[in-house]
Amino acid sequence: MFSALFVVVVGALAPRTGRICRRVAMSSSSESHFDYLVIGGGSGGIASARRAATYGAKVAVVERGALGGTCVNVGCVPKKVMWNAAHITEVLHDAALYQYRGDLESVKLDWGALKTARDNYVTRLNGIYGRNLDNSEVTKLVGTASFDGATAVRVGEKVYTADHVLVAVGGTPTVPEGLEGAEHCITSDGFFELEELPASVAVVGAGYIAVEMAGILNALGAETSLLIRGDLALRSFDDLLSTTLDAEMKRQGMTVVPQTTVASVALDEETGLKTVVSTDGVEVGKFEQVLIATGRRPLTEPLCLDKVGVELDSKGYVVVDDFQATTAPGVYALGDVCGNVELTPMAIAAGRRLADRLFGGMPLAKADYDNVPTVVFSHPTIGTIGLTEAQARDRYGDDDVAVYKSTFVNLWYGPMPIEPADKPKTAMKLVCVGPEEKVVGLHVIGMGADEMLQGFGVAMKMGATKADFDSCVAIHPTAAEEFVTLPVWGMAGSTPAKLGKTEKKEEVSAR
Ligand SMILES: Cc1cc2nc3c(=O)[nH]c(=O)nc-3n(C[C@H](O)[C@H](O)[C@H](O)COP(=O)(O)OP(=O)(O)OC[C@H]3O[C@@H](n4cnc5c(N)ncnc54)[C@H](O)[C@@H]3O)c2cc1C
Repeated sequence: MFSALFVVVVGALAPRTGRICRRVAMSSSSESHFDYLVIGGGSGGIASARRAATYGAKVAVVERGALGGTCVNVGCVPKKVMWNAAHITEVLHDAALYQYRGDLESVKLDWGALKTARDNYVTRLNGIYGRNLDNSEVTKLVGTASFDGATAVRVGEKVYTADHVLVAVGGTPTVPEGLEGAEHCITSDGFFELEELPASVAVVGAGYIAVEMAGILNALGAETSLLIRGDLALRSFDDLLSTTLDAEMKRQGMTVVPQTTVASVALDEETGLKTVVSTDGVEVGKFEQVLIATGRRPLTEPLCLDKVGVELDSKGYVVVDDFQATTAPGVYALGDVCGNVELTPMAIAAGRRLADRLFGGMPLAKADYDNVPTVVFSHPTIGTIGLTEAQARDRYGDDDVAVYKSTFVNLWYGPMPIEPADKPKTAMKLVCVGPEEKVVGLHVIGMGADEMLQGFGVAMKMGATKADFDSCVAIHPTAAEEFVTLPVWGMAGSTPAKLGKTEKKEEVSAR
Protein backbone atom coordinates (compact mmCIF):
# COMPACT_ATOMS: atom_id res chain seq x y z
CA MET A 1 0.00 0.00 0.00
CA PHE A 2 2.78 2.41 0.83
CA SER A 3 5.21 1.67 -1.99
CA ALA A 4 6.88 4.92 -3.00
CA LEU A 5 6.52 3.93 -6.60
CA PHE A 6 7.82 6.36 -9.23
CA VAL A 7 6.04 5.55 -12.45
CA VAL A 8 7.25 7.28 -15.58
CA VAL A 9 4.51 6.71 -18.05
CA VAL A 10 5.43 5.98 -21.63
CA GLY A 11 3.71 8.61 -23.70
CA ALA A 12 4.31 11.34 -21.15
CA LEU A 13 4.87 13.69 -24.04
CA ALA A 14 1.47 13.05 -25.56
CA PRO A 15 -0.13 16.23 -26.94
CA ARG A 16 -1.66 18.32 -24.18
CA THR A 17 -4.64 19.57 -26.04
CA GLY A 18 -7.02 18.20 -28.58
CA ARG A 19 -6.79 14.72 -27.10
CA ILE A 20 -9.24 12.18 -28.39
CA CYS A 21 -11.38 10.84 -25.56
CA ARG A 22 -10.92 7.11 -26.08
CA ARG A 23 -12.74 4.40 -24.21
CA VAL A 24 -10.51 1.47 -23.35
CA ALA A 25 -10.77 -1.67 -21.28
CA MET A 26 -9.89 -0.94 -17.69
CA SER A 27 -7.66 -3.09 -15.57
CA SER A 28 -7.84 -2.66 -11.84
CA SER A 29 -4.81 -4.39 -10.44
CA SER A 30 -3.57 -3.31 -7.04
CA GLU A 31 -0.73 -1.42 -8.76
CA SER A 32 -3.04 0.64 -10.89
CA HIS A 33 -5.81 1.19 -8.34
CA PHE A 34 -5.59 3.98 -5.77
CA ASP A 35 -7.74 5.21 -2.94
CA TYR A 36 -7.18 8.74 -4.22
CA LEU A 37 -5.98 9.82 -7.65
CA VAL A 38 -5.12 13.51 -7.93
CA ILE A 39 -4.86 15.14 -11.36
CA GLY A 40 -2.53 18.13 -11.13
CA GLY A 41 0.61 18.49 -9.04
CA GLY A 42 0.08 22.16 -8.23
CA SER A 43 -0.81 23.96 -5.00
CA GLY A 44 -4.16 22.24 -4.35
CA GLY A 45 -3.35 18.80 -5.74
CA ILE A 46 -0.11 18.29 -3.84
CA ALA A 47 -1.58 19.58 -0.57
CA SER A 48 -4.59 17.30 -0.85
CA ALA A 49 -2.55 14.26 -1.86
CA ARG A 50 -0.08 14.59 0.99
CA ARG A 51 -2.84 15.19 3.54
CA ALA A 52 -4.70 12.09 2.32
CA ALA A 53 -1.50 10.05 2.60
CA THR A 54 -1.12 11.04 6.25
CA TYR A 55 -4.40 9.18 6.88
CA GLY A 56 -2.99 6.02 5.27
CA ALA A 57 -4.66 6.39 1.88
CA LYS A 58 -2.94 4.99 -1.19
CA VAL A 59 -2.47 8.11 -3.29
CA ALA A 60 -1.11 9.06 -6.72
CA VAL A 61 -0.58 12.48 -8.30
CA VAL A 62 -0.57 12.92 -12.08
CA GLU A 63 1.43 15.88 -13.32
CA ARG A 64 2.32 16.70 -16.90
CA GLY A 65 4.74 19.54 -16.23
CA ALA A 66 6.93 20.73 -13.39
CA LEU A 67 5.75 19.94 -9.87
CA GLY A 68 4.40 22.88 -7.91
CA GLY A 69 2.04 24.11 -10.63
CA THR A 70 1.39 27.72 -11.53
CA CYS A 71 2.41 29.21 -8.19
CA VAL A 72 5.89 27.76 -8.09
CA ASN A 73 6.72 27.88 -11.80
CA VAL A 74 4.94 30.86 -13.39
CA GLY A 75 3.07 32.55 -10.54
CA CYS A 76 3.52 33.64 -6.93
CA VAL A 77 7.12 32.54 -6.43
CA PRO A 78 8.96 33.94 -9.50
CA LYS A 79 6.61 36.96 -9.38
CA LYS A 80 7.60 37.73 -5.77
CA VAL A 81 11.31 37.41 -6.68
CA MET A 82 10.79 40.04 -9.39
CA TRP A 83 8.72 42.21 -7.04
CA ASN A 84 11.59 42.02 -4.53
CA ALA A 85 14.03 43.17 -7.23
CA ALA A 86 11.71 46.07 -8.06
CA HIS A 87 11.47 46.93 -4.35
CA ILE A 88 15.28 46.94 -4.02
CA THR A 89 15.42 49.41 -6.93
CA GLU A 90 12.96 51.64 -5.10
CA VAL A 91 14.96 51.46 -1.88
CA LEU A 92 18.15 52.36 -3.80
CA HIS A 93 16.31 55.41 -5.09
CA ASP A 94 15.17 56.28 -1.58
CA ALA A 95 18.72 55.85 -0.22
CA ALA A 96 19.79 59.09 -1.89
CA LEU A 97 16.84 60.83 -0.23
CA TYR A 98 18.06 59.39 3.08
CA GLN A 99 21.36 61.23 2.43
CA TYR A 100 23.38 58.21 1.33
CA ARG A 101 26.36 59.35 -0.76
CA GLY A 102 27.91 57.63 -3.77
CA ASP A 103 26.81 56.79 -7.24
CA LEU A 104 23.58 54.97 -6.42
CA GLU A 105 22.21 55.67 -9.90
CA SER A 106 24.90 53.43 -11.40
CA VAL A 107 23.67 50.40 -9.44
CA LYS A 108 21.67 48.39 -11.99
CA LEU A 109 19.94 45.06 -11.97
CA ASP A 110 21.57 42.32 -14.08
CA TRP A 111 18.23 40.89 -15.26
CA GLY A 112 19.80 37.86 -16.96
CA ALA A 113 21.76 36.89 -13.85
CA LEU A 114 18.68 37.30 -11.64
CA LYS A 115 16.65 35.18 -14.07
CA THR A 116 19.24 32.41 -13.80
CA ALA A 117 19.21 32.60 -10.00
CA ARG A 118 15.39 32.68 -9.98
CA ASP A 119 15.13 29.70 -12.34
CA ASN A 120 17.60 27.77 -10.20
CA TYR A 121 15.52 28.53 -7.13
CA VAL A 122 12.35 27.33 -8.86
CA THR A 123 14.13 24.13 -9.96
CA ARG A 124 15.19 23.59 -6.35
CA LEU A 125 11.56 24.00 -5.26
CA ASN A 126 10.43 21.49 -7.93
CA GLY A 127 12.85 19.01 -6.36
CA ILE A 128 11.60 19.73 -2.85
CA TYR A 129 7.99 19.13 -3.97
CA GLY A 130 9.05 15.82 -5.52
CA ARG A 131 10.89 14.71 -2.40
CA ASN A 132 7.94 15.74 -0.22
CA LEU A 133 5.67 13.49 -2.29
CA ASP A 134 8.20 10.65 -1.92
CA ASN A 135 8.40 11.23 1.82
CA SER A 136 4.60 11.11 2.01
CA GLU A 137 4.69 7.88 -0.05
CA VAL A 138 2.57 9.40 -2.81
CA THR A 139 3.06 7.83 -6.24
CA LYS A 140 4.06 10.27 -8.99
CA LEU A 141 2.63 9.66 -12.43
CA VAL A 142 4.15 11.74 -15.21
CA GLY A 143 1.96 12.70 -18.15
CA THR A 144 -1.29 14.30 -19.23
CA ALA A 145 -4.37 12.80 -17.60
CA SER A 146 -7.82 12.34 -19.11
CA PHE A 147 -10.91 10.54 -17.86
CA ASP A 148 -11.49 7.08 -19.25
CA GLY A 149 -14.51 6.09 -17.19
CA ALA A 150 -16.35 7.11 -14.04
CA THR A 151 -13.28 7.06 -11.79
CA ALA A 152 -10.73 5.81 -14.29
CA VAL A 153 -7.95 8.03 -15.55
CA ARG A 154 -5.74 7.51 -18.57
CA VAL A 155 -2.13 8.69 -18.47
CA GLY A 156 -0.33 7.89 -21.70
CA GLU A 157 -1.16 4.28 -22.56
CA LYS A 158 -2.04 3.27 -19.01
CA VAL A 159 -5.35 3.52 -17.21
CA TYR A 160 -5.58 3.91 -13.46
CA THR A 161 -8.64 3.55 -11.29
CA ALA A 162 -9.44 5.11 -7.95
CA ASP A 163 -12.15 5.31 -5.32
CA HIS A 164 -11.90 9.09 -5.47
CA VAL A 165 -10.50 11.34 -8.22
CA LEU A 166 -9.55 14.97 -7.66
CA VAL A 167 -9.37 17.44 -10.54
CA ALA A 168 -6.86 20.15 -9.58
CA VAL A 169 -5.55 21.14 -13.00
CA GLY A 170 -5.51 24.92 -12.54
CA GLY A 171 -5.65 27.41 -15.38
CA THR A 172 -3.66 29.13 -18.08
CA PRO A 173 -3.46 32.71 -19.44
CA THR A 174 -5.81 33.72 -22.25
CA VAL A 175 -5.52 36.27 -25.03
CA PRO A 176 -8.66 38.14 -26.15
CA GLU A 177 -10.41 36.38 -29.00
CA GLY A 178 -9.94 38.12 -32.33
CA LEU A 179 -6.88 40.09 -31.24
CA GLU A 180 -4.97 40.63 -34.47
CA GLY A 181 -1.25 39.97 -34.02
CA ALA A 182 -1.70 38.05 -30.77
CA GLU A 183 1.35 35.98 -31.75
CA HIS A 184 3.53 39.06 -31.20
CA CYS A 185 2.42 39.35 -27.57
CA ILE A 186 3.45 37.58 -24.39
CA THR A 187 1.39 36.60 -21.34
CA SER A 188 2.44 36.30 -17.71
CA ASP A 189 4.04 32.95 -18.62
CA GLY A 190 6.16 34.78 -21.23
CA PHE A 191 7.12 37.45 -18.70
CA PHE A 192 9.06 34.79 -16.81
CA GLU A 193 10.92 33.81 -19.98
CA LEU A 194 12.19 37.33 -20.75
CA GLU A 195 15.98 37.29 -20.93
CA GLU A 196 16.27 41.05 -20.50
CA LEU A 197 14.31 44.04 -19.31
CA PRO A 198 12.38 45.45 -22.27
CA ALA A 199 13.03 49.14 -22.89
CA SER A 200 9.30 49.72 -23.34
CA VAL A 201 6.26 47.62 -22.64
CA ALA A 202 2.50 47.84 -22.91
CA VAL A 203 0.70 45.78 -20.28
CA VAL A 204 -2.89 45.10 -21.30
CA GLY A 205 -5.31 44.33 -18.48
CA ALA A 206 -6.78 45.69 -15.29
CA GLY A 207 -6.61 42.78 -12.87
CA TYR A 208 -4.07 42.01 -10.21
CA ILE A 209 -1.64 40.21 -12.52
CA ALA A 210 -1.62 43.19 -14.91
CA VAL A 211 -0.90 45.77 -12.20
CA GLU A 212 1.72 43.55 -10.58
CA MET A 213 3.64 42.99 -13.82
CA ALA A 214 3.31 46.64 -14.88
CA GLY A 215 4.53 47.76 -11.44
CA ILE A 216 7.59 45.49 -11.57
CA LEU A 217 8.54 46.55 -15.10
CA ASN A 218 8.01 50.23 -14.33
CA ALA A 219 10.05 50.14 -11.11
CA LEU A 220 12.89 48.32 -12.87
CA GLY A 221 13.10 51.04 -15.51
CA ALA A 222 10.99 49.93 -18.51
CA GLU A 223 8.85 52.68 -20.10
CA THR A 224 5.57 51.14 -19.02
CA SER A 225 2.03 51.77 -20.23
CA LEU A 226 -0.95 50.08 -18.64
CA LEU A 227 -3.85 49.75 -21.06
CA ILE A 228 -7.20 49.45 -19.30
CA ARG A 229 -10.58 48.76 -20.88
CA GLY A 230 -12.47 50.75 -18.22
CA ASP A 231 -11.47 53.78 -16.14
CA LEU A 232 -9.47 52.17 -13.37
CA ALA A 233 -7.41 49.06 -12.70
CA LEU A 234 -8.66 46.75 -9.91
CA ARG A 235 -12.18 48.09 -10.38
CA SER A 236 -13.73 45.28 -8.33
CA PHE A 237 -11.64 46.26 -5.30
CA ASP A 238 -12.72 48.92 -2.78
CA ASP A 239 -12.61 52.30 -4.50
CA LEU A 240 -10.09 53.64 -1.97
CA LEU A 241 -7.64 51.03 -3.26
CA SER A 242 -8.26 51.45 -6.97
CA THR A 243 -8.17 55.26 -6.92
CA THR A 244 -5.10 55.45 -4.66
CA LEU A 245 -3.27 52.89 -6.82
CA ASP A 246 -4.18 54.82 -9.96
CA ALA A 247 -2.67 58.01 -8.50
CA GLU A 248 0.42 56.15 -7.24
CA MET A 249 1.10 54.41 -10.56
CA LYS A 250 0.94 57.77 -12.36
CA ARG A 251 3.12 59.43 -9.70
CA GLN A 252 5.72 56.72 -10.30
CA GLY A 253 5.85 57.58 -14.01
CA MET A 254 3.69 54.80 -15.44
CA THR A 255 1.45 55.79 -18.34
CA VAL A 256 -2.07 54.65 -17.53
CA VAL A 257 -4.29 54.55 -20.63
CA PRO A 258 -7.96 54.13 -19.68
CA GLN A 259 -10.92 53.31 -21.95
CA THR A 260 -8.72 51.34 -24.32
CA THR A 261 -9.41 47.96 -25.87
CA VAL A 262 -6.60 46.62 -28.00
CA ALA A 263 -7.61 45.59 -31.53
CA SER A 264 -4.27 44.78 -33.13
CA VAL A 265 -0.57 44.43 -32.51
CA ALA A 266 1.67 44.74 -35.57
CA LEU A 267 5.35 43.83 -35.57
CA ASP A 268 7.85 45.96 -37.45
CA GLU A 269 10.47 43.35 -38.44
CA GLU A 270 13.17 46.00 -38.84
CA THR A 271 12.92 47.71 -35.47
CA GLY A 272 11.37 44.81 -33.58
CA LEU A 273 8.83 47.27 -32.19
CA LYS A 274 5.16 46.37 -31.89
CA THR A 275 2.51 48.93 -32.76
CA VAL A 276 -0.61 48.72 -30.63
CA VAL A 277 -3.87 50.02 -32.10
CA SER A 278 -7.12 50.27 -30.13
CA THR A 279 -10.61 49.30 -31.31
CA ASP A 280 -11.24 53.04 -31.80
CA GLY A 281 -8.51 53.03 -34.45
CA VAL A 282 -6.14 55.02 -32.24
CA GLU A 283 -2.42 54.13 -32.31
CA VAL A 284 -1.63 53.71 -28.62
CA GLY A 285 2.12 53.45 -29.16
CA LYS A 286 5.10 51.34 -30.24
CA PHE A 287 6.55 48.96 -27.68
CA GLU A 288 9.32 46.42 -27.41
CA GLN A 289 6.97 44.03 -25.63
CA VAL A 290 3.20 43.74 -25.33
CA LEU A 291 2.11 41.74 -22.31
CA ILE A 292 -1.48 40.54 -22.30
CA ALA A 293 -2.89 39.99 -18.81
CA THR A 294 -6.61 40.05 -19.50
CA GLY A 295 -7.60 36.77 -17.90
CA ARG A 296 -7.13 33.05 -17.43
CA ARG A 297 -9.16 29.98 -18.29
CA PRO A 298 -9.47 26.59 -16.61
CA LEU A 299 -7.40 23.78 -18.11
CA THR A 300 -10.23 21.31 -18.54
CA GLU A 301 -10.13 20.42 -22.21
CA PRO A 302 -7.79 17.39 -22.23
CA LEU A 303 -9.70 15.79 -19.35
CA CYS A 304 -12.78 14.64 -21.26
CA LEU A 305 -14.92 15.63 -18.28
CA ASP A 306 -18.11 15.23 -20.29
CA LYS A 307 -17.41 11.52 -20.38
CA VAL A 308 -18.04 11.23 -16.64
CA GLY A 309 -20.81 13.80 -16.23
CA VAL A 310 -18.82 16.60 -14.61
CA GLU A 311 -20.76 19.84 -15.17
CA LEU A 312 -18.98 23.00 -16.23
CA ASP A 313 -20.37 26.53 -15.88
CA SER A 314 -20.79 28.97 -18.78
CA LYS A 315 -17.14 30.05 -18.49
CA GLY A 316 -15.85 26.47 -18.46
CA TYR A 317 -15.13 26.25 -14.73
CA VAL A 318 -15.94 23.00 -12.91
CA VAL A 319 -19.11 23.30 -10.84
CA VAL A 320 -18.67 22.05 -7.27
CA ASP A 321 -20.69 22.14 -4.06
CA ASP A 322 -19.41 23.45 -0.71
CA PHE A 323 -17.55 20.16 -0.20
CA GLN A 324 -15.70 20.31 -3.57
CA ALA A 325 -17.87 17.52 -5.00
CA THR A 326 -18.59 17.76 -8.73
CA THR A 327 -21.79 16.52 -10.35
CA ALA A 328 -20.11 13.12 -10.97
CA PRO A 329 -19.95 10.71 -8.02
CA GLY A 330 -16.42 10.16 -6.74
CA VAL A 331 -15.02 13.13 -8.68
CA TYR A 332 -13.98 16.33 -6.88
CA ALA A 333 -12.44 19.59 -8.02
CA LEU A 334 -10.76 22.57 -6.38
CA GLY A 335 -8.41 25.46 -6.96
CA ASP A 336 -8.26 27.60 -10.09
CA VAL A 337 -10.20 25.07 -12.18
CA CYS A 338 -13.28 26.03 -10.11
CA GLY A 339 -12.72 29.78 -10.51
CA ASN A 340 -13.58 30.65 -6.91
CA VAL A 341 -10.87 32.63 -5.04
CA GLU A 342 -8.00 31.79 -7.38
CA LEU A 343 -5.18 31.87 -4.86
CA THR A 344 -2.65 29.29 -3.75
CA PRO A 345 -3.53 29.19 -0.04
CA MET A 346 -7.23 28.79 -0.96
CA ALA A 347 -6.42 25.77 -3.16
CA ILE A 348 -4.25 24.33 -0.38
CA ALA A 349 -6.93 24.82 2.27
CA ALA A 350 -9.63 23.28 0.05
CA GLY A 351 -7.34 20.35 -0.78
CA ARG A 352 -6.52 19.60 2.85
CA ARG A 353 -10.14 19.89 3.98
CA LEU A 354 -11.27 17.55 1.20
CA ALA A 355 -8.69 14.95 2.26
CA ASP A 356 -9.81 15.37 5.89
CA ARG A 357 -13.37 14.64 4.80
CA LEU A 358 -12.63 11.70 2.50
CA PHE A 359 -9.96 9.96 4.56
CA GLY A 360 -9.71 11.64 7.96
CA GLY A 361 -13.12 10.82 9.38
CA MET A 362 -14.31 14.44 9.31
CA PRO A 363 -17.54 14.24 7.31
CA LEU A 364 -18.29 17.96 7.59
CA ALA A 365 -14.81 19.27 6.79
CA LYS A 366 -14.90 21.98 4.12
CA ALA A 367 -12.94 25.08 3.22
CA ASP A 368 -14.29 28.49 4.15
CA TYR A 369 -14.19 30.90 1.20
CA ASP A 370 -15.25 33.93 3.27
CA ASN A 371 -12.93 36.67 4.51
CA VAL A 372 -9.92 35.40 2.58
CA PRO A 373 -7.06 37.90 3.01
CA THR A 374 -5.59 38.89 -0.34
CA VAL A 375 -2.50 40.87 -1.24
CA VAL A 376 -1.75 42.52 -4.56
CA PHE A 377 1.98 42.99 -5.08
CA SER A 378 1.52 46.32 -6.78
CA HIS A 379 3.71 49.37 -6.05
CA PRO A 380 2.77 50.08 -3.32
CA THR A 381 1.22 46.84 -2.13
CA ILE A 382 -2.47 46.35 -1.45
CA GLY A 383 -4.10 44.24 1.22
CA THR A 384 -7.79 43.49 1.34
CA ILE A 385 -10.16 41.28 3.31
CA GLY A 386 -13.93 40.93 3.11
CA LEU A 387 -16.49 43.31 1.67
CA THR A 388 -15.81 46.54 -0.17
CA GLU A 389 -17.69 49.57 1.13
CA ALA A 390 -20.03 49.38 -1.87
CA GLN A 391 -20.76 45.68 -1.27
CA ALA A 392 -21.45 46.32 2.42
CA ARG A 393 -23.85 49.18 1.62
CA ASP A 394 -25.63 47.00 -0.92
CA ARG A 395 -25.95 44.08 1.46
CA TYR A 396 -26.72 45.86 4.75
CA GLY A 397 -28.06 49.28 3.70
CA ASP A 398 -26.44 52.67 4.34
CA ASP A 399 -27.82 53.07 7.87
CA ASP A 400 -26.13 49.93 9.12
CA VAL A 401 -22.70 50.65 7.67
CA ALA A 402 -20.00 52.71 9.34
CA VAL A 403 -16.75 53.40 7.53
CA TYR A 404 -13.47 54.50 9.12
CA LYS A 405 -10.79 55.84 6.79
CA SER A 406 -7.33 57.29 7.01
CA THR A 407 -4.84 58.60 4.47
CA PHE A 408 -1.35 59.44 5.66
CA VAL A 409 2.32 59.53 4.73
CA ASN A 410 4.37 56.62 6.06
CA LEU A 411 7.13 57.76 8.43
CA TRP A 412 9.62 56.20 5.95
CA TYR A 413 9.11 59.24 3.73
CA GLY A 414 9.10 61.75 6.63
CA PRO A 415 12.71 63.00 6.47
CA MET A 416 12.93 62.98 2.67
CA PRO A 417 13.43 66.45 1.16
CA ILE A 418 10.33 66.36 -1.02
CA GLU A 419 7.10 68.30 -0.87
CA PRO A 420 4.58 66.62 1.48
CA ALA A 421 2.02 66.57 -1.32
CA ASP A 422 4.42 64.56 -3.49
CA LYS A 423 5.10 61.91 -0.88
CA PRO A 424 3.50 58.47 -1.45
CA LYS A 425 0.34 57.91 0.56
CA THR A 426 -0.89 55.03 2.64
CA ALA A 427 -4.68 54.69 2.70
CA MET A 428 -6.78 52.49 4.97
CA LYS A 429 -10.42 51.70 5.43
CA LEU A 430 -12.45 49.66 7.89
CA VAL A 431 -15.99 48.79 6.86
CA CYS A 432 -18.17 47.98 9.87
CA VAL A 433 -21.80 46.88 10.17
CA GLY A 434 -24.52 46.78 12.78
CA PRO A 435 -24.77 48.37 16.20
CA GLU A 436 -21.82 46.27 17.38
CA GLU A 437 -19.76 47.56 14.42
CA LYS A 438 -18.48 44.20 13.30
CA VAL A 439 -15.61 44.64 10.86
CA VAL A 440 -16.68 43.12 7.53
CA GLY A 441 -14.15 44.81 5.28
CA LEU A 442 -10.53 45.85 5.78
CA HIS A 443 -8.57 47.54 3.01
CA VAL A 444 -5.11 49.05 2.86
CA ILE A 445 -2.72 50.32 0.22
CA GLY A 446 0.78 51.46 1.10
CA MET A 447 4.25 50.38 2.05
CA GLY A 448 4.17 47.17 4.07
CA ALA A 449 0.49 46.41 3.43
CA ASP A 450 1.45 42.88 2.35
CA GLU A 451 2.98 42.03 5.70
CA MET A 452 0.30 43.69 7.83
CA LEU A 453 -2.68 41.71 6.70
CA GLN A 454 -2.36 38.17 8.04
CA GLY A 455 -3.05 38.96 11.71
CA PHE A 456 -5.99 41.19 10.86
CA GLY A 457 -7.32 38.25 8.85
CA VAL A 458 -7.37 36.16 12.04
CA ALA A 459 -9.17 38.96 13.88
CA MET A 460 -11.85 39.16 11.20
CA LYS A 461 -12.29 35.39 11.16
CA MET A 462 -12.98 35.69 14.89
CA GLY A 463 -15.63 38.32 14.26
CA ALA A 464 -13.73 41.35 15.57
CA THR A 465 -15.55 44.65 16.03
CA LYS A 466 -14.24 48.20 15.80
CA ALA A 467 -14.15 48.18 19.64
CA ASP A 468 -11.93 45.07 19.54
CA PHE A 469 -9.58 46.82 17.12
CA ASP A 470 -9.48 49.89 19.39
CA SER A 471 -8.82 47.70 22.45
CA CYS A 472 -5.54 46.47 20.95
CA VAL A 473 -2.71 48.80 21.92
CA ALA A 474 -0.86 50.23 18.93
CA ILE A 475 2.67 49.23 17.93
CA HIS A 476 4.49 52.50 17.39
CA PRO A 477 5.86 53.70 15.04
CA THR A 478 4.39 51.45 12.37
CA ALA A 479 1.86 51.97 9.60
CA ALA A 480 -0.28 49.06 10.80
CA GLU A 481 -1.01 50.88 14.08
CA GLU A 482 -3.38 53.13 12.16
CA PHE A 483 -5.86 50.23 11.97
CA VAL A 484 -6.20 50.16 15.77
CA THR A 485 -6.27 53.93 16.20
CA LEU A 486 -8.67 54.93 13.43
CA PRO A 487 -10.63 57.98 14.49
CA VAL A 488 -12.97 58.19 16.24
CA TRP A 489 -10.96 55.89 18.52
CA GLY A 490 -12.32 54.13 21.59
CA MET A 491 -15.92 55.27 21.10
CA ALA A 492 -17.25 52.37 19.03
CA GLY A 493 -20.62 51.08 20.12
CA SER A 494 -21.61 54.37 21.74
CA THR A 495 -20.69 56.46 18.72
CA PRO A 496 -23.96 56.45 16.79
CA ALA A 497 -25.69 58.35 19.56
CA LYS A 498 -22.75 60.47 20.64
CA LEU A 499 -21.18 61.41 17.36
CA GLY A 500 -23.71 60.88 14.62
CA LYS A 501 -23.17 58.50 11.77
CA THR A 502 -22.31 61.06 9.11
CA GLU A 503 -19.35 62.38 11.04
CA LYS A 504 -18.12 58.88 11.69
CA LYS A 505 -18.36 57.76 8.08
CA GLU A 506 -16.27 60.56 6.71
CA GLU A 507 -13.38 60.52 9.17
CA VAL A 508 -10.08 61.07 7.40
CA SER A 509 -6.84 61.71 9.21
CA ALA A 510 -3.56 62.94 7.83
CA ARG A 511 -0.28 62.54 9.67
C1 LIG B 1 1.36 35.53 -12.54
C2 LIG B 1 0.62 34.92 -11.37
C3 LIG B 1 0.87 35.36 -10.09
C4 LIG B 1 0.21 34.80 -9.01
N1 LIG B 1 0.49 35.27 -7.77
C5 LIG B 1 -0.12 34.72 -6.70
C6 LIG B 1 0.18 35.18 -5.38
O1 LIG B 1 1.00 36.07 -5.19
N2 LIG B 1 -0.47 34.60 -4.35
C7 LIG B 1 -1.38 33.60 -4.53
O2 LIG B 1 -1.93 33.09 -3.55
N3 LIG B 1 -1.71 33.16 -5.77
C8 LIG B 1 -1.09 33.70 -6.85
N4 LIG B 1 -1.39 33.24 -8.11
C9 LIG B 1 -2.45 32.22 -8.26
C10 LIG B 1 -1.95 30.83 -7.93
O3 LIG B 1 -0.80 30.54 -8.68
C11 LIG B 1 -3.05 29.82 -8.23
O4 LIG B 1 -4.22 30.22 -7.56
C12 LIG B 1 -2.69 28.43 -7.77
O5 LIG B 1 -1.51 27.98 -8.36
C13 LIG B 1 -3.85 27.46 -8.08
O6 LIG B 1 -3.51 26.17 -7.68
P1 LIG B 1 -4.16 24.91 -8.40
O7 LIG B 1 -3.72 23.73 -7.61
O8 LIG B 1 -5.60 25.13 -8.60
O9 LIG B 1 -3.54 24.87 -9.86
P2 LIG B 1 -1.99 24.91 -10.38
O10 LIG B 1 -1.12 25.35 -9.29
O11 LIG B 1 -2.06 25.68 -11.59
O12 LIG B 1 -1.70 23.39 -10.65
C14 LIG B 1 -2.32 22.68 -11.67
C15 LIG B 1 -1.34 21.64 -12.19
O13 LIG B 1 -2.06 20.70 -12.98
C16 LIG B 1 -1.26 20.33 -14.09
N5 LIG B 1 -2.15 19.83 -15.12
C17 LIG B 1 -3.08 20.53 -15.84
N6 LIG B 1 -3.78 19.71 -16.63
C18 LIG B 1 -3.28 18.47 -16.43
C19 LIG B 1 -3.61 17.19 -16.96
N7 LIG B 1 -4.60 17.03 -17.84
N8 LIG B 1 -2.87 16.14 -16.55
C20 LIG B 1 -1.87 16.28 -15.66
N9 LIG B 1 -1.53 17.47 -15.11
C21 LIG B 1 -2.24 18.54 -15.48
C22 LIG B 1 -0.54 21.61 -14.46
O14 LIG B 1 0.64 21.32 -15.18
C23 LIG B 1 -0.25 22.21 -13.08
O15 LIG B 1 1.01 21.82 -12.59
C24 LIG B 1 -0.73 33.76 -9.22
C25 LIG B 1 -0.98 33.29 -10.52
C26 LIG B 1 -0.32 33.86 -11.58
C27 LIG B 1 -0.59 33.35 -12.98
